[in-house]
Amino acid sequence: MALHATCIQNAVDQLPTNIRQVGRDYLAQERLARRWRLGDADYAAELRGYADRYHPHIHAHEAQLVATCTCEGKRMPCRHAAALLLDLEQNAEMYYETPWALAQTAPPMLARWPFDQELNWDLIPDLPPFWREPFSDGALHRLQQRLQTSSIRSRLSRDPLAPLWAEMHASWLEQPAVRAQFDLWRDRHLTKSLPDDFEAWLMLHWMQPCLPLAPIMNVVSAGANNPACVDALLSFLWRPHLVHPTGERLVTMLADLTILQPDLANVLWTRYTDLDPGSLRQADAWYQAGRADRAIALIDRHLPDDPKLRREARLRLIAWLAPEDGIPHRIALAWESCSLTPVEPVRHLIDPKAWDSLKSSIQARQKSGAVTDDRE
Ligand SMILES: [Zn+2]
Repeated sequence: MALHATCIQNAVDQLPTNIRQVGRDYLAQERLARRWRLGDADYAAELRGYADRYHPHIHAHEAQLVATCTCEGKRMPCRHAAALLLDLEQNAEMYYETPWALAQTAPPMLARWPFDQELNWDLIPDLPPFWREPFSDGALHRLQQRLQTSSIRSRLSRDPLAPLWAEMHASWLEQPAVRAQFDLWRDRHLTKSLPDDFEAWLMLHWMQPCLPLAPIMNVVSAGANNPACVDALLSFLWRPHLVHPTGERLVTMLADLTILQPDLANVLWTRYTDLDPGSLRQADAWYQAGRADRAIALIDRHLPDDPKLRREARLRLIAWLAPEDGIPHRIALAWESCSLTPVEPVRHLIDPKAWDSLKSSIQARQKSGAVTDDRE
């Protein structure tokens, strides 16, 4: 269960007064740093006490918060966990997922019990770098300077920009200029770092599933090392990670596997149908793997019932089919959206009488009050 503001508030209210005051003093003296979260339910930080460093941890479980701490205090929450709770009350959004350096080096056993093991806390920065915070116009110039001054390294795992791309707040990647710089950087790596760095590419995609990595998978797929890479991907998919699995991350890995080993991926997609309504993501992966026929067959067979998904499916079919084969989907879309816009581009392919009849039926629907949806 995720952390909720009211849960934190309740836990703070229940702290004994003296413990709460020590926690406040810690924060006022800026003794709390290296904020870190694991998924949505585990939050931890480093607390520099008067004699030592401690690592309190809060786990959210069914509206209850459970505190633990490396001080092994008999009473929980201890003063360090109290400081963590007080900080979460104010700064929960400053807790970011595992940074690249730690995710890259942590052994799988550590990922299973991260709060019971020796963790290299120095790999979590005192304060998150600016690219982990949401996009702002003011910081764009700083980011671009950083992207431009860095030269590309032959190994992805040693490239100074890899952490930036992996950790960047997803809102940065909605900026076309930033996205274009990523594409350039990725393509310069295409011939340099593959396949030796395949695992690092997987980690990059896991941490940042919205990055377009199909070109990387296509190069691997065409190479002699493809079977080894399929093995690496499968073991990556099933091992524990310090960056928690989400539906988006799992679907991204399945899409990569579809490019590398489509038949095997096909079996796995059936286990995750709830993560891919309408099979649209699987179809996209087939298409990116150069198998438009499979992509089309997959969604053409069972168009989704949900109107929004059905529209998404039709738009894909229109883009992937030959113009004349896409006509039935354009007409259906025109009918469903109550607008002629989807059929305008193929008007020259439609019999004039059929066109007039379609136009008058849609106009009749519009008059009857059906909502027009003119999106392309
Ligand atoms: Zn403690």
